[in-house]
This record gives sequence, structure tokens and C-alpha cells, in this order.
Amino acid sequence: MRSCRTSSAGSRSRRLRDTRSIASSARDRRAQVSAPLPRIAVVALGGTIGAPVDASGSNSALAIDGRTLVASIPGLDGVADIEPSTFRSVMSADIGVGDVVDLAARISELAAHGADGVVITQGTDTLEEVAYLLDLLLQVEIPVVVTGAMRNPGRPVVDGPANVIDAVRTATRPELASLGVLVVMAGEIHSARTVRKLHTSALAAFGSPGTGPIGWVVEDRVRVPLQPARRRITLSPAPGALPRVALHRLALGDDTAVLELIPSLGYDGLVIETYGAGHVGSRALDALSRAVDAMPVVFASRTGSGELYRATGGYPGSEKDLADRGLISAVDLDGLKARLLLLALLAAGVHDRAAMTAAFEAHL
Ligand code: ASP
Repeated sequence: MRSCRTSSAGSRSRRLRDTRSIASSARDRRAQVSAPLPRIAVVALGGTIGAPVDASGSNSALAIDGRTLVASIPGLDGVADIEPSTFRSVMSADIGVGDVVDLAARISELAAHGADGVVITQGTDTLEEVAYLLDLLLQVEIPVVVTGAMRNPGRPVVDGPANVIDAVRTATRPELASLGVLVVMAGEIHSARTVRKLHTSALAAFGSPGTGPIGWVVEDRVRVPLQPARRRITLSPAPGALPRVALHRLALGDDTAVLELIPSLGYDGLVIETYGAGHVGSRALDALSRAVDAMPVVFASRTGSGELYRATGGYPGSEKDLADRGLISAVDLDGLKARLLLLALLAAGVHDRAAMTAAFEAHL
């Protein structure tokens, strides 16, 4: 009997519990229905992340469109209300500076039309440059996150879907908008200003030498414990043709033939990647002085991390000598990013050497 009573009391309380949990899950569902998911625009540019693969495992140059890419990622629709689109379908080596200027305009439109965040998917080869140039051009109040994939969809381990989900989760966090453009790869969140592709093929190919990532995504949690202290620079290109800036890397014992030619090739600016903390061979000095007479010349380090010296080397070809000759220090920007900052400054009509120097300084 007791067991019978117990069982009937038990089933009554179970029924009660069930009724309560049905009521509360209905409440939860209503709450879910009434709280819409953030609207995240996913803009596809192409790259390995969405490239169709043939029977041999090679991916083609053309990528699938943004809608198909998004539809192929299970669970993404539960993270955000995704609005996919296709901006370009190219490998990232075929993205031009003008494309990035147009992309910045597209992102601004998406923000103006109510997107809560934007995720760009693209090839990883030029991802750090696209992200940084967007960072220089954009003035939007929503998070903008760039991602890609190191493995094409035909490989046994594929990173694209996880990277897109992590990027979308990151883009749903409005408080990250003020950090500038972010790059999310392999579970890490990087500032566009510091991130670099450091490996040809590793899944974790991206890093921020010297500073590290500012955060990470684990499971469904986006963590950003570090925030860049730098001041952002925003530059709007004036209408008309974009400037052309050459990038030249110095190497052991090189002659100066290419350097000598650059001023005659119609470039608007030049970035040289110097040895170490800002040094060139004395044989390059005359060519550099001639280049400075023709255009702004910025010097960065070919080492890929660290800040240039300012007052250590006192010999011909040292960082002090270069500054005295009118070259502008890239401070801690590498050659790729220094080229984009110089280009964006020129595009915005900044031609004064002191203003350029100040921009490179202020940007740290
Ligand atoms: N070649 C590809 C690209 O950058 C590589 C990649 O997507 O990872 O477009």
C-alpha cells in the first residue's frame, strides 16, 4: 500500500513537475520567440573556405556563393539570424585594394540597414591585409570580423565551419565594435592591426607576434580579456584613382638595381623592409635618398615583429640615418601593413611628411 501511495503521490508530484516544466519551457519558448537573434551579415569573398573540390582533392579557384556556404554549416542558424551574400568569388591573391574600398562601403551599407554585425569570409593568403585595410577605412558601430579556412571542404579535417561559427558568435557581441576589425581563426580572436599569417598550412596559422590574441572562443563563449589600447585611425579615400605604393624587401648583398628603378615606375609611395631594427646597407643610401626626393618612403623591419630603433644606431644606414634622410618609421607595423597605412593616408589626401610620421606614431 505504502509503495502504492508513494507511487501515486510520486506520480502526482511528477505530473505537477511536468506541468510546471511544460509551462516554463513554453515561457522560455515565448521568450526566445520575442527576443530575436542578432542579425549578422555574412559576406563571402571566396577563398579555400568555400571552394568546390574535385575528385583529386584539389579545390577550384571559384568559391561557392555566400548563401550555399552558410547553408552548409550545421548549427549556424541557431547562433544568429544570418543574412548571407556574395561580394567576390576569388582566391584572395586576386583581391585588390579597390575591392577592399568597395567592401568597406558595402559593410557601411549593411550597418546602416540594421545589421548587428558583419562577418567576412575570404581566402587566408591576404586575410591580414584585407582586415587591416578595412580597419583603416571603416567607421561603423557594429563588430566586423574576418575569417577563412586553412583546409578546403574536401580535406579530412575542415576548419571553415568552426571558424565561421566562432566569427559569427564574436560578431554578435556589440561591445567588441570599438576594438576595430577583428580576425577569428582557430578559436583565437586577433586585432586586425597585429594579426599575421605565420604558417603556410597549419590550422593555427595566424598569430599576433609580440602581443598575442586579444581573446578566444570556446564552445559558445566569446572571451575578450584584453583590449588594444591604441588609438584607431580612420581614413576616407578621396574619389579618384587609388594611389600605388610599392613594397621592397632588402636582402643580403643585394644590388640596388630594383630600388633605383622604383621612382621611375609611377608609384606614389614606397615601403622598404629593412634589416633588423631599421638598417640598410650603405650601398642603398643614394638610391633611397633619390626615392625620398620623389615620394614618401617608409621603412619597416623585415623581421616581422618588434618596434624599430630610433636612437641606437649612429652609422650610415642606421635607423637614425634613415630618419635624417627623410624616411618615415613604420614604428612596429610590418611591411605589408605599413604599405596599407601609407596607401590609405595618400588616398585620404595626407601628403605632408610630418602628418604621415605622426599617423604612424599615433597608431601604436
Ligand atoms: N589560396 C587561398 C586564398 O587565400 C588560400 C586560403 O583560402 O586559405 O584564397
